[in-house]
Amino acid sequence: MSGSVIHFLILNINESKKYNILKQLDYIIVGQGLAGTLLAYLLMKAGQKIILIDSDLDMTASKVAAGIINPVTGRRIVKSWRVDEFLPIAKSIYQNIEQIFNISIYKNIEICKAIRTVEEENEWLLRAGYPAYQAYCGQEPPDMRHFETKIHPFHAFATILQAAQVDVPQLISFFKSHFNQNNILLKESFDYDDLEILENEVQYRGFLKAKKIIFCEGAGGAKNPFFEHLPFNLDKGELLKIKIPNAPFDKIFKNHLSIVPLDAAQNLYWVGATNEWKFTHPYPTDIQKQLIINELNTILTVPFEVIAHQAAIRPTVKDRRPFIGLHPNFPVLAIFNGFGTKGTSLIPFWAAHFTDVLLHQQKLDSEVNIHRFYSK
Ligand SMILES: Cc1cc2nc3c(=O)[nH]c(=O)nc-3n(C[C@H](O)[C@H](O)[C@H](O)COP(=O)(O)OP(=O)(O)OC[C@H]3O[C@@H](n4cnc5c(N)ncnc54)[C@H](O)[C@@H]3O)c2cc1C
Repeated sequence: MSGSVIHFLILNINESKKYNILKQLDYIIVGQGLAGTLLAYLLMKAGQKIILIDSDLDMTASKVAAGIINPVTGRRIVKSWRVDEFLPIAKSIYQNIEQIFNISIYKNIEICKAIRTVEEENEWLLRAGYPAYQAYCGQEPPDMRHFETKIHPFHAFATILQAAQVDVPQLISFFKSHFNQNNILLKESFDYDDLEILENEVQYRGFLKAKKIIFCEGAGGAKNPFFEHLPFNLDKGELLKIKIPNAPFDKIFKNHLSIVPLDAAQNLYWVGATNEWKFTHPYPTDIQKQLIINELNTILTVPFEVIAHQAAIRPTVKDRRPFIGLHPNFPVLAIFNGFGTKGTSLIPFWAAHFTDVLLHQQKLDSEVNIHRFYSK
């Protein structure tokens, strides 16, 4: 083997870029949020050669999310879409990652839902009586010992079962290091003009060639010229991280906002989030901060200290179903996006399904297939 060939084999991604030497891959993944990360993880586990490209912004949906998995939501307490299918897969994928990499990212946690009126209580009791809801709606009220004297009185409280909390920011940061150690993560903003679409593959600049490119850009996907027909309905969210002295809350408290324990021993909580469908920039604003503080004051009777204020844009979609699939005219281009407000519970299931579609010719579920937006 000549010296130059050995050199080619050991070139890492940055060297390939520097010397413009082509790297042959199975998939290029654009975006290392929760969607790109879990899809990359499952494709690599199945033996695929991939590279990720991510602009490494400070605040993205995955980097600020509370990571709550809540099986019943809304004022009318309805089961989340296909939750019975999604929850077991999410739990198994997150726990599998915990075991393989020896990290702690997933925990089961109860949600204590504040019930404000008799009407709400009746709605809850009605739902809790349905057999299909019994796994998720606790028959007993929650144990409120840790909240006593620290929150204002409410009409009643209800327990949401089978909820979970995933430390999404830690998961993203762990995989960022893991991908970097394996030299498969390129830190840059993807330039659409530099993508060449060939018959059965794509080439990016002079140095990456792959069978497909998969766009997992979250809210950034709304500007992707290859998928410009897809109806995003972006939703900006802001949150606070606060300290509540001597308040070791052991559950998520949910009223209009959620108070989520980040480190209850340190009295550290995530509080949010707001929703805004009309916004001019992605950054935190004083108005939304004040809204959260006002709402907190209607819940807490004790003082709290604001430690951080963050904002990001959720990749929400008009018909509330993910955008998954291959471009109808250029099947070397794929998208895996549109996980909206529920990425933590949806992404593991759909990443596993899309992996089967890509590698084992499984039929893509029509509910999420982007072909629903293209006329036949
Ligand atoms: C305040 C807030 C709270 C939330 N709380 C929850 C919760 O409790 N539970 C829940 O399930 N969901 C929650 N969500 C929603 C959840 O965060 C999203 O569903 C999920 O993170 C979406 O992941 P994603 O990978 O699709 O997008 P993102 O996290 O936005 O990741 C996209 C990535 O692509 C990169 N990128 C984009 N364009 C380009 C480009 N052109 N070139 C290179 N890189 C690019 C970005 O930098 C980013 O890293 C919350 C969202 C917000 C904003």
